[in-house]
Amino acid sequence: MTSPHFGTFFLPGPTEVRPEILAAMQRPMISHRSAEFETLYAHCDDGLRRLFRTSRPVFISSSSATGLMEAAIRNAPAGPILSLVNGAFSARFAEIARACGRTVEALEVAYGEVVPLERVEQALRDRRFAAVTAAHSETSTGAAQDVQAIAELAHAHGAFSLIDSVSGMGGMPVETDAWGLDFILTGSQKALALPPGLAFCCVSDRYLAQAKDAPARGRYFDIVEFAQYAAKRQTPNTPAVSLMYALEAQMAAIGPTGIECRWARHAAMTSVTHAWVEHQRPSGRIEGILAPAGSRSATVTVVKTGAGIDARALLVEVERRGYVMGPGYGKLAATTFRVGHMGDHTVETVTRVLDVVGEALAQR
Ligand SMILES: *Cc1c(COP(=O)(O)O)cnc(C)c1O
Repeated sequence: MTSPHFGTFFLPGPTEVRPEILAAMQRPMISHRSAEFETLYAHCDDGLRRLFRTSRPVFISSSSATGLMEAAIRNAPAGPILSLVNGAFSARFAEIARACGRTVEALEVAYGEVVPLERVEQALRDRRFAAVTAAHSETSTGAAQDVQAIAELAHAHGAFSLIDSVSGMGGMPVETDAWGLDFILTGSQKALALPPGLAFCCVSDRYLAQAKDAPARGRYFDIVEFAQYAAKRQTPNTPAVSLMYALEAQMAAIGPTGIECRWARHAAMTSVTHAWVEHQRPSGRIEGILAPAGSRSATVTVVKTGAGIDARALLVEVERRGYVMGPGYGKLAATTFRVGHMGDHTVETVTRVLDVVGEALAQR
């Protein structure tokens, strides 16, 4: 499936894009109010519904994923927001809610951890919230949260579940309908292995029904308008048509039955990465994995380097060998690096880059 030169770029977003997908973007412009566009839209929507595991429309936004995080908040009912914060991106969700004028209660845990469900339940008991925000796969730490359980708790206490699966969707199981997710969003440039610039979301009927009364939902991220246009297989404004060509090609490549294979491939890439860490540990050059066992993302692993090994210098060595790995996020930059084993990478490409990291480590 991949071309010979693929397999050197392992950032946890943007991820490496196959040449075939890049080539799909080189098609002429079309009117976004034409029958031709509606066909393109329909192909994208069909694929996205299979990806999201939903029978409802998936909205296509020409923005980065942060735009749809803002949409999730803006279109939510009035009232305070409960934000589960366990890393940089889940913290961003809380910041966006504050920036939109919401009262936010943040349930914070140390980077790498996940928020215990008991704490979520207690907070929901103590106070009535309009919605709960959470990151499925916290890309800054490699921790994965049980968003199904979080959504159930939110519902049991009359709150909507607003879920960021930007680095989860396409690489880890997400069951939009079965889990009753009210607002689930992702971006094009992570596990979907598309260029950056598109974001996708799906909302529950209940969420959509109340959105028309949301007082400050603004214009660009008005979910009611997205729904109206989606019914016509269009977008409210001029979409990034070229990126939709890429999306159409990727959805066709995944095919009608490919999503479970995609999850299995990501699980296999994760196993290879975890095994490599275990293999390196006795040397002392690698300390271990930041996220606790049982709560690890299937798309990104944050690896802690051993005492005296500066992760930033290590990545420079890796880059000299022709490979790009993700730096540790923010305050974790000196002591961790991130392996983006996601998108269209394979066990082979991940094994190869880990060998390269191992060589660089052995020379230190
Ligand atoms: C990358 C990422 C985002 C932000 O996405 P943008 O497309 O850069 O706006 C948000 N949440 C998570 C978990 C991410 O990995």
